[in-house]
Amino acid sequence: MAQYPSSDEHLAFLVKLQRLLSEGDFTATYKFALLMALADISVERGHDDVRPLEISLRDIAEKFIDYYWQQTMSYTSTAGGLEGKFIKQNHGQQAAVLTKIREFRETQNLHNLGKARKSPHYSKLVTAVRRTVADKPIVHFQVLGRSEDEFMFKAPKGAQAIQLKPGVSAYLRKFHALIQQMTKTRWVEFIKSVSDNQKILGNQDRLYKFLFESSRESMDKVRSSLFKLENKTCFYCKKPVRDLRDVHVDHFIPFSLYGRDITQNFVLAHRNCNISKSDVLAGYDHLARWIDRLEMRRADLNEIADEAGVISDDTGIKTVAHWSYHHGQQAEAQAWLKSGKYEPITEAYLSLFR
Ligand SMILES: [Zn+2]
Repeated sequence: MAQYPSSDEHLAFLVKLQRLLSEGDFTATYKFALLMALADISVERGHDDVRPLEISLRDIAEKFIDYYWQQTMSYTSTAGGLEGKFIKQNHGQQAAVLTKIREFRETQNLHNLGKARKSPHYSKLVTAVRRTVADKPIVHFQVLGRSEDEFMFKAPKGAQAIQLKPGVSAYLRKFHALIQQMTKTRWVEFIKSVSDNQKILGNQDRLYKFLFESSRESMDKVRSSLFKLENKTCFYCKKPVRDLRDVHVDHFIPFSLYGRDITQNFVLAHRNCNISKSDVLAGYDHLARWIDRLEMRRADLNEIADEAGVISDDTGIKTVAHWSYHHGQQAEAQAWLKSGKYEPITEAYLSLFR
């Protein structure tokens, strides 16, 4: 029989996490990236019961590259900021991981992460990032106040993987949306606190978008490709979409639940359908069609990913969807059917994943 952590244990974990974010010694943004990586990987392949989870340092390094890729582009602010400046993610020298990613991009002339992952040199970049991850955030992450408290993972010296302690992947799965939000907020605050960044950032605050959302250019490509793929119809109401200006690219699994851009998670929707759905999970029929689309349109979606430079991961996003509906059902959440119409998420929804 599987064993599940108790509510008291969940709460105790949250309190520690809160302490970690407020008392932890942060000289670079690595700890935020590490926390996000552990939470994302737990959603992608962790458990809701107390089993421990082993995570390789290479997998963590790949997540770092994924998060920092866009952040190593130059930041241009339209309101008084300096053109072509790079944001610093450390109080001293630029954080090494960012320098490594930028050097890789410039020497390989690869500006698109999708293509970079297919490059024969990508594996070397992962190795280099893994070393920094092992030396810095893994060692310093669990220091609260001045003492070390191994409440999340064990990291034997020299090992190639860490072990999430029993229950930790369950906590990270349960509180994923909250953790993501807390972490991103702190991450933005940290960057603003680095004095070298203040001139670059200017007055207009688009830092959050720059750090965590897909570039405008990629999204424009996704939108026009989906416009053709979906045959100019809205994924939700199935009515025609007149022109490109009337459409939004919707995150099928809301961005507030899982904040990574994955090509298979994008659907074309009327502006109004998108606004009405908001941050809610979509209803049964929508989910059934979306799951079918993963299979039937596999090649097309991969092609869109390549063109737009957005990550492609059909099995990963399906697991994430399963996790989000499962937790939605447990929390007695409602699913969105159409404008103003909702229904409870039932067991039948979950059977679509079998
Ligand atoms: Zn519509």
